[in-house]
Amino acid sequence: MAARSTRQAARARILGAFSAQLDRIIPEDESVPLKGATFADFEDQVETLAQAALPVALEERASLESNAEVETAGRCPHCGSEGVYLEKEVTQPEVRSRYGPVVLYKQNARCRSCGGSFSPSGS
Ligand SMILES: [Zn+2]
Repeated sequence: MAARSTRQAARARILGAFSAQLDRIIPEDESVPLKGATFADFEDQVETLAQAALPVALEERASLESNAEVETAGRCPHCGSEGVYLEKEVTQPEVRSRYGPVVLYKQNARCRSCGGSFSPSGS
């Protein structure tokens, strides 16, 4: 089992996502006018930032878990057989988190005994 990313790469992607959104709300260039006029406008801007950056932080945090990627499928959860194998194709289902849609990395395994399929990934 292993992490799928490094802390350095995860931090860089999170900071990049945050920075890109921050540039839209508060551009570093003082000659670029700020958008919005009311507190509600500002709330909308920050909500957009959160929806863009927080799912990235969640995806990256999950990728750092030691069981984010397995090398063997382990044991079949349906029949208990060890005659299982990892399928080559990895799926990336999109799920809803409290911060918005998040793309997961999901390994798939199949059992030679009962034909069942399952995901061996811990997270
Ligand atoms: Zn099985």
